[in-house]
Amino acid sequence: MKTIHATLIPGDGIGPEVVAATHRLLVAVGAPIEFEGCQAGASVFKQGIASGVTPETIDSIKRTRLVLKGPLETPVGFGEKSANVTLRKLFETYANIRPVREFAGVRTPYSGRGVDLVIVRENVEDLYAGIEHMQTTEVAQCLKIITRKGSEKAIRTAFELARAEGRKSVHCATKANIMKFTEGMFKRVFEEVSAEYPDIAAHHIIVDNCAHQLVKKPEQFDVIVTTNMNGDILSDLTSALVGGLGFAPSANVGDGIAIFEAVHGSAPKYAGKDVINPSAAILSGVMMLRYLGLEAEALNVENALRKTLEDGIAPRDVAGDAAGVATSVFTDAVIARLGQKPQQFSARPSRRVAMETVKERMRAPVPMPTKVEGVDVFLRFDGNASTLGMTLETLATDCAVKLKMISNRGTKVYPGETQADCVDHWRCRFLNRNGDEIVDRQIYELLRKITDAGLAWMHIEKLQVMGEKPGWTKAQGEE
Ligand code: NAP
Repeated sequence: MKTIHATLIPGDGIGPEVVAATHRLLVAVGAPIEFEGCQAGASVFKQGIASGVTPETIDSIKRTRLVLKGPLETPVGFGEKSANVTLRKLFETYANIRPVREFAGVRTPYSGRGVDLVIVRENVEDLYAGIEHMQTTEVAQCLKIITRKGSEKAIRTAFELARAEGRKSVHCATKANIMKFTEGMFKRVFEEVSAEYPDIAAHHIIVDNCAHQLVKKPEQFDVIVTTNMNGDILSDLTSALVGGLGFAPSANVGDGIAIFEAVHGSAPKYAGKDVINPSAAILSGVMMLRYLGLEAEALNVENALRKTLEDGIAPRDVAGDAAGVATSVFTDAVIARLGQKPQQFSARPSRRVAMETVKERMRAPVPMPTKVEGVDVFLRFDGNASTLGMTLETLATDCAVKLKMISNRGTKVYPGETQADCVDHWRCRFLNRNGDEIVDRQIYELLRKITDAGLAWMHIEKLQVMGEKPGWTKAQGEE
């Protein structure tokens, strides 16, 4: 069999242990994969490389287009960007596939209910675009970027996956009731794409109800497709339905590239102790084998893992401190069971997910006339709403735009009464006076007057009508 080249990143914390276990299984099952060991994460940050990924690692992935990786540590609330997210974005792995399926040997409150579902998470956009700015010393902002293209790629992946695995339905989980444009776009694209898959039932569900339904009746779900942040949270939840993060594998997939890794993080408190559950990483290896079309090898490893658990051999997270076996002992037990079958498992019919179809079927953007009708100016001001409102009305008297309203944290505070607990960051909405299109020069003029009045503006948003529809939402309380 032809040798397949892949990049291997051990990662941080418990990463080296779970990746070593997976590597041992892949060798033991005879997978013809030759790995190039590479670095990313904490050790790379320590070398002063701000991305957390070495140039050698990037070169290796460019060559192999196939990665098995351990979790990478990201400082929480400070420090450099996540090396993980960097890898996902750098190689445009636009969808993250996160399956969970009940294990006969792992008792949970859901045992016997046949939980068997997949979350497909959009993988590079949303709040993970990582565009954050301090607006004032008291106010932080993160942009939620959702694109038609990014949504369509993730959604098509979900439908192709459903077809490949003989699944019956795809739920789209969004918060489109609140975020009409961003989450709303994901929902609208889902409705368009789902029409091309009449053999698969398509449902929309609001994401908070999705979390509720997942806890109450998870067996109703087959495939759930969702935006990046929703998917991050929901997939930790779904891992708990089958025994926890120790059992949740994933694949980051893109155009001719795939990165396989456990859903879990580096769990630093367990690092080097030989106590954690390597199943999630091993199952990520199984996903890698299936991606490569090595179905017999994939099934062999999956069967051996399930048989080990059925035989009552499990790590600490399942069996408890007294009865749980070490990571290495568990891995030995799985290797010893290669070739054996579990009693209570039959694999899904698995065909390769037709990722190339995602690319082929992508729609071209539909051009639409746009017209600027106003501008939102975000500024810092240490006074109250009425003082600011009157100042802005006066200074814009001879401008092409006039002040329509001011909001604070999304709630209209001027004109009129307000109960809002205002902060020093104000969104001031100016609309054209006579229905004419607003040109940039008129916006510069307004900004100049704002600056001359001693007010500090942070950023602006043009208010564009697209086609017939306004491309902005109203503030809470705005007429
Ligand atoms: P985490 O590392 O996933 O650990 C959370 C908890 O999940 C652990 O304390 C443990 O629960 C359980 N757990 C995780 N993996 C397990 C395994 N293999 N076997 C048994 N139990 C397991 O999440 P975190 O503590 O929030 O994040 C730690 C670091 O990992 C952070 O720097 C984060 O940014 C990073 N991270 C990286 C990735 C990635 O690289 N893909 C993903 C997520 C997080 P108990 O405490 O109950 O035993």
